[in-house]
Amino acid sequence: MEIAFVRPVAPFNRYIQNVPLNYIHLAAHLRQRGHKATILDMVVEESTDDVDQYLRSNNVGLVGIGCMTCELPDALAEARRLKENHPGIRIVFGGAHPSADPEECLRSGVVDYVVVGEGELPLAALLDALENGRHPQGILGLWSIENGAVRGNSSAAIPNVEELPMPAYDQLDLNKYFQLDSPWHFPKSKKAVQYVSSRGCPYHCSYCHTIHGKKYRGMSAAKVVDEIERLVIAHGVEELMIVDDIFNFDLERAKDICRGIVDRGLRVHLQFPNGVRGDRFDEELVALMKRAGTHYMAVAIETTSEKYQNLIRKHLKLEKALQTIQWARKYDIEVCGFFMIGFPGETLQEIEQTLDFAVSAPLDTIFISLVSPFKGTVLRTDMMNGRFGDIDASGVAALEQLFPTVHNEAVPIETLQKLQRSAYWRFYLKPRPMLNLGRRMTNWSNVKKVSRAIRRRLAESRISSLN
Ligand code: SF4
Repeated sequence: MEIAFVRPVAPFNRYIQNVPLNYIHLAAHLRQRGHKATILDMVVEESTDDVDQYLRSNNVGLVGIGCMTCELPDALAEARRLKENHPGIRIVFGGAHPSADPEECLRSGVVDYVVVGEGELPLAALLDALENGRHPQGILGLWSIENGAVRGNSSAAIPNVEELPMPAYDQLDLNKYFQLDSPWHFPKSKKAVQYVSSRGCPYHCSYCHTIHGKKYRGMSAAKVVDEIERLVIAHGVEELMIVDDIFNFDLERAKDICRGIVDRGLRVHLQFPNGVRGDRFDEELVALMKRAGTHYMAVAIETTSEKYQNLIRKHLKLEKALQTIQWARKYDIEVCGFFMIGFPGETLQEIEQTLDFAVSAPLDTIFISLVSPFKGTVLRTDMMNGRFGDIDASGVAALEQLFPTVHNEAVPIETLQKLQRSAYWRFYLKPRPMLNLGRRMTNWSNVKKVSRAIRRRLAESRISSLN
């Protein structure tokens, strides 16, 4: 039986036009296990008619759809459409939102199974069961409805990432992706793809997802460099957006990857747009990252308040993060600072302190999110359990929305948005960031990107952290 992974077009992924990283990881593993897995990506080419045509003409018994919270409405709409047009087909959801709330997806009536956490092992077991006519029961990481009750078995992470096959970039027509506007920081080449070299993160920042669990699993530097070499030589890739949860957890591994890229003479640009852990660096790593081709990285600072660093369990050592930013400037790597404002109970003074730091730190770009405690995060549970103070009915109601907000009478959301906008103006009207942006306006793609960023950050200012 074949599985087809379908990526519907959603307002969010209009900006995330890059390879479906989740699907190529899953497809490669399923292929290794002897299953056929196809990727139908409506972001680049497939229309709903093409998808229907493919499903009718092939032995597809299962459709997989991955989504974050912001993609959920479109994922459910596509599942509904597929169920109507292909009554026999079974649908499995996975990704950040379904992992956080499998029940919500299953009770929609159009989702048969939900994979919680990493999908490789549960999907392979599900396909094995369906092919052999067995009821898929007791599969770790797989959730479904049995006799009206939602049942499932926690999650199943890949124990040894060293054994994972190369993600199935070969199943995509990368040239089509190269034509798209990359959503990430101005790549140096259009031939850019995302890449992951490790899974999991042992830190406990409460606003973060836990899809890959709390155990860090990094592929060896040799395997990573082999894969990068293959991407460069066999697929013509010229830039990698490394989107690990925490690329720099193991400093020596990170350095060896950089050394490997340099030693093999691979001409590739690197960027780390998801963020690296700012207080886990030494100068040698920054220097090696530069030599390996890094031109950009994001550092997640979130808040300068020690109280909130503790409350959100991030415990970032701000002085060390600042040192990393200074090293990055020394080695000519651009740095974006990520910040969050609007934690429950956060005072105006605490918020202004974080924003003043954002504006004055030696950063090249900044990104300010309004706190959004998504389903499945510890932050949401902490709020419900009163870690940030008592929560009343209006506070609970605010958390129940698809895009949850924080109810804070002292600093309401309109005030947060004003502060957010004002910080952006203060920052981007400084000579260096302005010059940086000006230097970028050399091609139409960058002009569009900058205009979109200005529109989204200033005109459409709203909750902007994503899960
Ligand atoms: S925010 Fe970064 S450091 Fe914190 S838990 Fe998530 S991946 Fe780890």
